[in-house]
Amino acid sequence: MANLAPVLLLPIFYKFTPLPEGELTQRLLALAQRAKTRVKGVFTMHMSSKTTAANAALMGLGNTRRIVLGDTMLDRYTPDEIEVVLAHELGHHVHHDIWKLIISQSVLTLGGLYLVNLALHWAVDTQHYYQSLADPATIPFVLVLTTIFGLVIMPLSNGLSRAIEYQADEYALQSTRMVEPFKSAMTRLANQNLADVEPSPLVEFLFHDHPAIGKRLKHANEFAQRYALNASINAESLAPTSSTEPVGMPSSGSSTPDSAH
Ligand SMILES: [Zn+2]
Repeated sequence: MANLAPVLLLPIFYKFTPLPEGELTQRLLALAQRAKTRVKGVFTMHMSSKTTAANAALMGLGNTRRIVLGDTMLDRYTPDEIEVVLAHELGHHVHHDIWKLIISQSVLTLGGLYLVNLALHWAVDTQHYYQSLADPATIPFVLVLTTIFGLVIMPLSNGLSRAIEYQADEYALQSTRMVEPFKSAMTRLANQNLADVEPSPLVEFLFHDHPAIGKRLKHANEFAQRYALNASINAESLAPTSSTEPVGMPSSGSSTPDSAH
């Protein structure tokens, strides 16, 4: 399904059009190439009639994998910001995060069902609260147990998700070295989602599957410091050509591809 969805399903709901050749297309394809990710091309998805949410994503598997930009993003974000958002998504791909999530969720679900099974056996076999395992009266008990289990593992799976997101941010910063566009893109996305800049640590621990925007900006600043440090060390030992100029990035703003509308 994941293979066919971008080809068969999503076009039913959204209109895809290839992004015209241009600087942005080239930059995004180059970024994918550096991530050793084969893509079919860059497409825009007409989302603006249905949502204001902006998105850039990698869709599909294998030979149908493609870069998809929401027209909401194409219209309102700079090429640098779009590149850094896509770099974050490529980071997920490079780190095989989908598989990490599928496997961890499966393990947690199976583990949870096993624990519920143990508790149910205890309630029936030793406490004789119910007549049998198949007694419909056990249903509320099972529902309460699964709810409690869900609450207990939520911080676990959210913690894993935040760690994965942090790594994808790190990848985006490393592969583009564009700290300011990273910060502005993340801030704009967070504002769009009405995210809390500094949630209380407990709320973040329990409920957030992404690092708080404040932490993501801090991460970017730390990266900038690290990078400046490395650059100055390299500048001493290497040829003077390695300056603080972002790699392979011509100054932006020269050609913005035609917007979707
Ligand atoms: Zn992410």
